[in-house]
Amino acid sequence: MTVPTITLNDGTSIPQVGFGVFLVEPDDTQRIVSDALDAGYRHIDTAAIYGNEIGVGRAIETSGIPRDELYITTKLWNSDQGTQSAFDAMDLSLEKLGLDYVDLYLIHWPSPHRDRYLESWLTLEQLRADGKTRSIGVSNFQKAHLDRVIEGSSTVPAVNQIELHPAFAQRELSAYNRARGIHIEAWGPLGQGKYDLFSMPPVAVAAAATGKTPAQVVLRWQVQTGNIIFPKSNNAGRIAENLDIFDFELDDDQMAAMDSLDAGRRVGANPDTADF
Ligand code: NDP
Repeated sequence: MTVPTITLNDGTSIPQVGFGVFLVEPDDTQRIVSDALDAGYRHIDTAAIYGNEIGVGRAIETSGIPRDELYITTKLWNSDQGTQSAFDAMDLSLEKLGLDYVDLYLIHWPSPHRDRYLESWLTLEQLRADGKTRSIGVSNFQKAHLDRVIEGSSTVPAVNQIELHPAFAQRELSAYNRARGIHIEAWGPLGQGKYDLFSMPPVAVAAAATGKTPAQVVLRWQVQTGNIIFPKSNNAGRIAENLDIFDFELDDDQMAAMDSLDAGRRVGANPDTADF
């Protein structure tokens, strides 16, 4: 199976579907990421705060897959925002991952109460210049945060990784990013399993019509919407299922029905008010 790649605004390419490891236990991470690599995933999304970069690194090392065939993302945690603290955090992440560079380094949250995300962004620019990351981007950035880094630096983020699933489709923020050449990565692509998404009629009807599972229908909607995704699962069967979404298409009516599920239903923290 061939996973499509997307070209980012800095000329690099990213596999549109990867594997996310939020809430994967550190002790289980090597095994589960190995399952994902065996299933064909080549893009892994982790973060310093997930506490499992060592397991991701071990799975990479034991896979024998050439480094340039893998796409690895990690993220700067909020309390490490700044200049020297961000340099140090990047070095620690690389050490844990056992890598010389990552493909994408993100500011995890704007954490506006700290007021250090612009300074952190300037540090990420330097980390990219130093070769420690190929691309730099942001996560959970709202319009005002994006405006500030774009106006205050010479780099437009390559991606903005935001909460996005059918009941929280983020159309306005997506369009704002798109207009600036910033690609959307959708976190919680399955709504983190926090609401009854799979039994909602547009999902269930499309699943029955296509012979795919409700999760595959939701992930297919994400891909056809143009989002980069990295669903998480601890289960080898579901890990394989979530990548098996390139042998069918949702038609215009099925896409429109999925689009109608948007209800502004955020399941995670609000980036403007999160106090972590
Ligand atoms: P997801 O939307 O990927 O949902 C994960 C949940 O869905 C788990 O409970 C999983 O259970 C279940 N699931 C997965 N596949 C299936 C399936 N085929 N059928 C039924 N249930 C399924 O949530 P995440 O929060 O994990 O988001 C994905 C990734 O996004 C994260 O892992 C992380 O990399 C990133 N992320 C980034 C954030 C940020 O602030 N930048 C915040 C949150 C996530 P099970 O494991 O039992 O299969």
